[in-house]
Amino acid sequence: MRAMTRHALGIAMLAMLSLAHAADRKPNVVILATGGTIAGAAATGTQSGYTSGAVTIDAMLAAVPGIDKLATVKGEQISNVGSQDMSFDILMKVARRINALAADPKVDGFVITHGTDTMEESAFFLNLTVKTNKPVVMVGSMRPSTAVSADGPLNLYNAVGVAVDPDAKGRGVLVVMNDRIHAAHSLTKTSTTAVETFLSPVRGVVGIASYGKNDFYQSPSWKHTTASEFDISKVKSLPRVDIVYGGVDAAADLIDASVERGAKGIVIAGVGNGNMNKAMVDAAARAVKKGVFVVRSSRVATGFVGRNVELDDDKLGFIASDELNPQKSRVLLSLALLKPRKAADIQALFGAY
Ligand code: GLU
Repeated sequence: MRAMTRHALGIAMLAMLSLAHAADRKPNVVILATGGTIAGAAATGTQSGYTSGAVTIDAMLAAVPGIDKLATVKGEQISNVGSQDMSFDILMKVARRINALAADPKVDGFVITHGTDTMEESAFFLNLTVKTNKPVVMVGSMRPSTAVSADGPLNLYNAVGVAVDPDAKGRGVLVVMNDRIHAAHSLTKTSTTAVETFLSPVRGVVGIASYGKNDFYQSPSWKHTTASEFDISKVKSLPRVDIVYGGVDAAADLIDASVERGAKGIVIAGVGNGNMNKAMVDAAARAVKKGVFVVRSSRVATGFVGRNVELDDDKLGFIASDELNPQKSRVLLSLALLKPRKAADIQALFGAY
């Protein structure tokens, strides 16, 4: 008995020592690079034209003095594309790589470099498909690496600062740009050119990142990462989901064309509260009758789309996007359609994620 107690005590002390050691060691961060302006290069420092995704992760890291003090950083080049060419294939590769590396206790966090154009939907996709509570932080820049006052190096420094912060754990995929920490659910790109392009207009930022130190204000309340039911480990491709934009006299036959071309889901970037003209409503109702799922989102930047406001969703079989903009609605609907579901079940997903 006494021998056993001594044995248990020994194990407890060893565990405490290894914990103390873990706290002492420099954190390890894996950077998965995908391209974007942060890896962009121009011929001069003051021109607006440049080539996106031209600089490797090693060159990017070399431009950030002091990053090695925050963490031991290892870079992996997953792709090198402008994010207009981001694909679900590349994103699934990123998600799978994170899921594999997250099992390694020596890896403390992840940073993904990415173009800003589609950053919000990629962040949302990863938020739903990575299965770890370790920090996963996306980062980009608005100015190429060769520009005067390039914003990439400090953004990258701050992203690593968030990735090593134990306080960042369990908050889902975060985006760090221009000193702000955004939740994948909430951020959106609001300016084609300004450095302060990302806002989280409805929910506000998750926190502030400042030279490697962070202040967290809130935790996103939607399901994500370890609580997400979406599993892409064996998925080869996602079903086609199109977005059709509403407006004055908008052409309804784009909805019919989308159905003909094999879309399994259609997101309407509607006017106002997810509205559309009569011809579009009729076309969308035809699509539903053919088994295509129709989500009503909005082209408006803030607010949410509720059920049965000006359209009878119950009768028409439509789904309301709640707080998700069209591009994020497309991501959620694509993942939702990986298995057979009823419209009511998909509606519930739009409230949960
Ligand atoms: N189109 C580029 C991209 O999304 C430029 C935008 C950026 O990264 O800031 O990768």
